[in-house]
Amino acid sequence: MTDTIMMADAGGVVIDLIHTINANRQYLSEIDGAIGDGDHGINMSKGFTQCGEALAARGATPPLPVALGDLSTALMEGIGGSMGPLYGTFFFAMRDVLAGHARLDKVLFLRALDAGIAAVQDIGGAKAGDKTLVDTLLPARAACQAALAGGKDFRGCLAAMTAGAEAGMRATRGLRAKIGRASRLGERSVGVLDPGACSCYLILRSMGESLARRLDSAV
Ligand code: ADP
Ligand code: MG
Repeated sequence: MTDTIMMADAGGVVIDLIHTINANRQYLSEIDGAIGDGDHGINMSKGFTQCGEALAARGATPPLPVALGDLSTALMEGIGGSMGPLYGTFFFAMRDVLAGHARLDKVLFLRALDAGIAAVQDIGGAKAGDKTLVDTLLPARAACQAALAGGKDFRGCLAAMTAGAEAGMRATRGLRAKIGRASRLGERSVGVLDPGACSCYLILRSMGESLARRLDSAV
């Protein structure tokens, strides 16, 4: 077992992400209806579907960094509001770290995740506890880091990341929104999940599952 994935074989991770977001379009908009303007699922689905069209136009599925680049472009161009630039930047920063590598391993994956988070915080300014997707990303990274430090294999690091993301997402229910549209609600934002934290959990879980499947089939 190599515990690595060929980048050339991993572009389908992005296709799985598109399916995940489209399957949860209504769910994400419903959550946003409780705290925002009810468009989160629609926004996300629009951008991810545009990426699906760009990938289809390429014919064959490209390597993972190229597919992430297509996703970033589609999100930046296709989604209005806060999500296009935030997720667009997230995937672009990941792409930048992965580009030029033939294989993906757990250390490189964590580096890419790190770069994505840094970029999101850099442009969005959200900190831990502000009730945004950052509250999914930070515990996901911490769990992934701890698994890596504890000597877990790539699969173990991905499973830890997903568990951390889920815990972070669930914890947004108790937070008061301090940034973005929901912050206008003040105390009334407490008691419901943050939609961005939910989409971010779905994204990280999908990515983790797709990569784990590829590790299973790698020799
Ligand atoms: P809009 O707020 O324009 O309607 P969406 O409904 O698509 O956009 O997305 C809302 C989500 O955006 C929130 O749930 C939150 O997680 C995320 N968000 C908003 N502003 C920021 C920010 N500055 N940093 C990180 N995430 C943010
Ligand atoms: Mg919204």
